[in-house]
This record gives sequence, C-alpha cells and structure tokens, in this order.
Amino acid sequence: MLVSAKEMLQKAKAGHYAVGQFNINNLEWTKAILLTAQEMNSPVILGVSEGAGKYMCGYTTVVGMVNAMIYELGITVPVALHLDHGSYEAALKCIDAGFSSVMFDGSHYPIEENIAKTRELVALTDRLGVSLEAEVGAIGGEEDGVVGGGEVADPDECKRIADLGVTMLAAGIGNIHGKYPANWKGLSFDTLAAIQERTGEMPLVLHGGSGIPEEMVRKAITLGVSKVNVNTECQLAFAAATREYIEAGKDLEGKGFDPRKLLAPGVEVIKQTVRDKITLFGSADKA
Ligand SMILES: [Zn+2]
Repeated sequence: MLVSAKEMLQKAKAGHYAVGQFNINNLEWTKAILLTAQEMNSPVILGVSEGAGKYMCGYTTVVGMVNAMIYELGITVPVALHLDHGSYEAALKCIDAGFSSVMFDGSHYPIEENIAKTRELVALTDRLGVSLEAEVGAIGGEEDGVVGGGEVADPDECKRIADLGVTMLAAGIGNIHGKYPANWKGLSFDTLAAIQERTGEMPLVLHGGSGIPEEMVRKAITLGVSKVNVNTECQLAFAAATREYIEAGKDLEGKGFDPRKLLAPGVEVIKQTVRDKITLFGSADKA
C-alpha cells in the first residue's frame, strides 16, 4: 500500500538522514527501485514528472502499476508515489488518481500567487492524508539556460511557504537539474543554514541530486535536507549499460534481442545506483 511521505520524512529529519526520491519512467525502472529499497530495508519515494506520467499512459496507469507491483513483489518498506514538479492542475489529477504525495511547483509564480495556490493545496492534501511538497524560487538548470551558480532561494520566502503547513519544502541552494556544468560553484551552505534556521522542523528537499559531490550531499543532509531527488543519474547509467550491451554485439548473439535480456544490464545499473544513493543518504534499515 502506498503511504504519504510525511512520516518517513519527519523520521528522516529527526534521524539526520535523507530519503531518496527516484524518478520512474516505465516498468523496469519501477521494479528496479522497489526491489532495491526492499533489499536495503529503506523507505522510498517514487517520483513521476508530468511528462513521465503522460509517457506511462496517465496517472491512473502509474498508480495501478505501482500498487500491483508492491503487492506482487511483496514490498513491505514504506513507498510514496509522488508527483514531481507538478502544476496545480496536475497535482489535483494525481490526488484523484491515487498518488500518496504531490509536489506543487509554484516557483515560477510571483511569491503571493505561489502562496495562495499552495495554501489551497495544503487544505486539500491535509484532509486526504496526502503529503505536499512546495517550492520556493527557481532552481537553475540546463533547460532554462542557467549555468554556473545555480539558483538560490530567499530564506524569508521559504519561511512563509513552510508556515502554510506543507509537508516538505524545496528551495534552491545553488543546485541544478540535469548535468552540472564545469564552472558550477557548488552548493550554498550559508543559504541552506539560513533556510533551516527559519523553517525549523520542516523537511527540506534537495533537487538536482545527480552530480552533486558526495561530500556536499552529506553536509546538506546534516544541515536539514531530508529528501534528495535522483533522476538523471539513473538515466545516464541505464543508457551507458544499454550502449555497452549493443556495442558489444550482444543483441546479435542467440536470443540477445529479447527485451528482457536487452534491458537487463540497464536495470542492474539502476539497482546499483539506487543502492549507492540509499547508502549515501543513510536511509538503509530505516523502513
Ligand atoms: Zn526537481
């Protein structure tokens, strides 16, 4: 059964570790992540972007697949199914479809509008026992042409959003989505400390977790980050393993073209990536 991310994140915050959000794209991704979380006895958050939701034939398909997989694979660790960077409308759709957690990303709105929309969703998600992630300020990334410094959030705005009663808060601390540029300045720990100081017990979320040096991730967790999002790293690992399989001509040997064989090396490296992240975040045996 799917659970809200609230309890797992409050435990993580109190225990000074973080829970990983691993984005899913299809059955193989989902299976690899669920099996690894179970193997490590770790709580886990499955992230679904609007684009991935569409790709997987809609949110109800995703809910059906994940629920069935939890049952068929005998998964007993806490699993939250979470909308990643959702619009207000997508958040409503996901709640309707049976997601146990949603992110409303109002970071591109003026702060007053972000607050107004987030407040409405707090009322709804509270009533339904669904966890809600909000975001303050924009986080840099290749997609919007921002490189180098990344984006940083205003700690006072973070406090205003946290005070609305959201479950978790994403705020820019110099992180970037996608691949990090060579001239990246690193995480801004001063910003993180200032946000933590103003938001107290609120679990903070680190987006763009792929490619941040391990030491920085560890330090961010000690400063109040309780959820780290991982997406690109699994994609890069999967693509590299699949490329290696094909370049070695293995798809041409025997039944090597069978998708269950063709996709297997990619699945194994997703498992290894998730294993490494769970170890780094410290959530093993915290289920
Ligand atoms: Zn993100």
